[in-house]
Amino acid sequence: MTETKSYKIAWLPGDGIGPEVTREALRVLDAVASAHDFAFTAEEHPMGGAALDETGVPFPDDTRAACRESDAVLLGAVGGPKWDDTTGDQRPESGLLALRKALGVYANLRPVRVPEALASASPLRPDRVGGTDLLFVRELTGGIYFGTPEGRTDDGARSTMVYTEAEIERIAHVAFQRAQRRDGHVTSVDKANVLEVSKLWREVVTRVGEEHYPDVTLRHLYVDNAAMQVVRDPQQFDVVLTGNLFGDILSDLAAALPGSLGLLPSASVGGTVGLFEPVHGSAPDIAGADTANPIGTLLSAALLLDELGEPGAADAVRHGVDATLNAGFRTADLAADDEDAASTSTFGHEVATRAAEHAQKNTSASLP
Ligand code: NAD
Repeated sequence: MTETKSYKIAWLPGDGIGPEVTREALRVLDAVASAHDFAFTAEEHPMGGAALDETGVPFPDDTRAACRESDAVLLGAVGGPKWDDTTGDQRPESGLLALRKALGVYANLRPVRVPEALASASPLRPDRVGGTDLLFVRELTGGIYFGTPEGRTDDGARSTMVYTEAEIERIAHVAFQRAQRRDGHVTSVDKANVLEVSKLWREVVTRVGEEHYPDVTLRHLYVDNAAMQVVRDPQQFDVVLTGNLFGDILSDLAAALPGSLGLLPSASVGGTVGLFEPVHGSAPDIAGADTANPIGTLLSAALLLDELGEPGAADAVRHGVDATLNAGFRTADLAADDEDAASTSTFGHEVATRAAEHAQKNTSASLP
């Protein structure tokens, strides 16, 4: 008999709606675990403003150590008006950068999926966005946000965009490998008609593709055209590979497609331990009301399962979300004026029930 695998998850609820939405993600993980023959422990650790209040810093050493010793980190969100006056490394948000650095993650993965059931919630026409399913692979630790020299000069200011070949190569590998598991298409975004860094980006991405991934098709788009295409025809994309700056802007643009910030998950990978969190912030305006949309966090939990090598359980979670939407449940951000809104906890419960049923059915179907 094989031993049940057990994963250690560092649970950082953080601030605002973070505790509410991550609690539902743990509920859903729990619902699919036994059918897929794994167990997990979720140890809670302070992070962000909550950690600042409790320990005097937003990313305490104990939290750092626990994250590094875990198999995956599940984060809610950090920050809020209570800590708006903090500065420098006392800011809750600075804890996030320190966390990414501590884990060594350099690839940010942001899937943007518009389920057919939600196509009418999009600001774009339903026939344009329905069925959109794309994945941003954004380089997270280089580019203009980290390049030097940087700062004020005698007569102005400067920022420097820098990428080494090695940095471009490693993120290109991530994008091509993700495309192999999806529809086999990579769109690499740059500004090679103007920027020297982008010319190198294009050369290196092309070389990595030709040498290692002949089964994946590659095309290059200038970032201005890419922005237009994301809005005009988002269904054309499979994997979108970008540097740090362009990915920051384009992935937020694409985040508008499904119609609510609450729907989008993310994963940051490539280091020792992966970090999984919804794209939204701590939403202080609705914190504690049990009205937040947990879908972004539930889908982050699905990404976490994918990275742990539990794709069947990840599919069960995604199925649970889709089936709950198809059954008509909507949290307040998605409910029409004449519709009753489901609470965060009700929505999480409904997803957990459907995900568990799906997990049971599929695992028993595959028994000899
Ligand atoms: P936000 O994402 O918290 O909220 C923007 C709007 O979207 C609000 O109206 C909010 O109610 C709504 N919203 C967000 N998530 C939702 C959900 N799951 N369900 C329903 N509605 C949702 O952005 P903000 O208001 O600009 O920032 C609030 C705080 O969060 C700030 O302190 C900011 O620094 C922080 N922040 C943290 C992160 C992070 O932890 N990764 C990211 C962005 C912002």
